[in-house]
Amino acid sequence: MPQNSDFNQALLDFDKNHIWHPYTSLTNPLPTYPVASAKGVRLKLADGKKLIDGMSSWWTAIHGYNVPELNTAAEVQMKKMAHVMFGGITHEPAIKLCQKLVEITPAGLDKVFLADSGSVSVEVAMKMAIQYQHSKGKSQRHKFMTIKGGYHGDTTGAMSVCDPEGGMHHLFSKFLPEHLFIDRPIKQFHEQYESEELSRLEQFFRLNSDKCAAFILEPIVQGAGGMWFYSPDFLKKIRQLCNENDMLLIADEIATGFGRTGKLFACEHAEISPDIMCLGKALTGGYMTLAATLCTKEVADVVSDGEAGVFMHGPTFMGNPLACAIANKSLELLLHSNWQNRVAKIERQLKNELVPMAVALSVKDVRVLGAIGVIEMKDPVDVSKAQKFFVEHGVWIRPFRNLIYVMPPYVISEDDLRILTTAMVEFINP
Ligand SMILES: *Cc1c(COP(=O)(O)O)cnc(C)c1O
Repeated sequence: MPQNSDFNQALLDFDKNHIWHPYTSLTNPLPTYPVASAKGVRLKLADGKKLIDGMSSWWTAIHGYNVPELNTAAEVQMKKMAHVMFGGITHEPAIKLCQKLVEITPAGLDKVFLADSGSVSVEVAMKMAIQYQHSKGKSQRHKFMTIKGGYHGDTTGAMSVCDPEGGMHHLFSKFLPEHLFIDRPIKQFHEQYESEELSRLEQFFRLNSDKCAAFILEPIVQGAGGMWFYSPDFLKKIRQLCNENDMLLIADEIATGFGRTGKLFACEHAEISPDIMCLGKALTGGYMTLAATLCTKEVADVVSDGEAGVFMHGPTFMGNPLACAIANKSLELLLHSNWQNRVAKIERQLKNELVPMAVALSVKDVRVLGAIGVIEMKDPVDVSKAQKFFVEHGVWIRPFRNLIYVMPPYVISEDDLRILTTAMVEFINP
């Protein structure tokens, strides 16, 4: 347990014995670090120690923490209303947000469903695709194609298209629907495909598309499934094959959206538009849970004219005004922040400071794209040992499996980023 003088040991004991943390055991819990507050790129622990944040709280806190403009947006909205139902009611924060999302997302994405978390936005996308095919009289198209090594969330529909091994599909095999997985693209981001290498995809579509509603993927960056950056050629080919085989393309940009990969949306690397797009994570700058599923007019029209006559989904907290107001301010901050330069600068520095680690004996690969830096180790990393090391070195980095990676807030300074990369280097080369 982290030692901290002020924080009540009884509280930590309760946490350890009663509270599930993400993907943890309650019989063998890993240590947790009490955070008292956060500002800029620093988390302040209960014992007063400050840590430079390398995780952006899982891709979300792109502007850092305790951002005055976002605080004000929240306060102003709270005094009007924190929440109101979205059934039969609308409000300015939601309308403004949807207008902005339609404006900045790839061409054709025209209709917006506001969801309450990333996983829910994926469920919504999958249900849209099923309703779309059903309305077209193709109800036999009820499966999804996807890529191994993907991550789309933890609810059951989303989980069924996550990597089968990482998602432990065998554990849930009687419960989860079975979908069709193709191998992870072999070519990395900067590599090009020969056309023959992609022809095996044509074969796969030929054999399977008549039972598939859509292809769902994370464009360019596979995040929580393995931090893999793949070639835009592959994404272009999938777009083409979906068109040729009457399948929809669902782009899950929950992690990649809002500039993280160097483009506002990762689909832009391949110059494609999906039929359906999921957004979440950085949407509110890390303040509140909020997500969105966008689709084309064609998808919306076909769904709306189908047997149900409506799209069959409507969460209680749909379009939460407080979250929408914060998202509006976060997007305004982002779009006026010269984020392209900031992300490009982070990318250059990550390359300079991490790529030399590729020669280390324990390192398998080093990859950098936009404001994401990944060191893939040959062997799995002991997470609690690594966390302890990083906390002692004044940084917050949380590896998973054999991956030590950072995706800092875009506002991080050169010096603070160097403290992060130095800690990574020292962990690997003590
Ligand atoms: C995090 C993530 C999700 C799930 O979002 P939650 O808000 O955790 O439900 C889905 N897809 C991708 C690509 C993600 O990174």
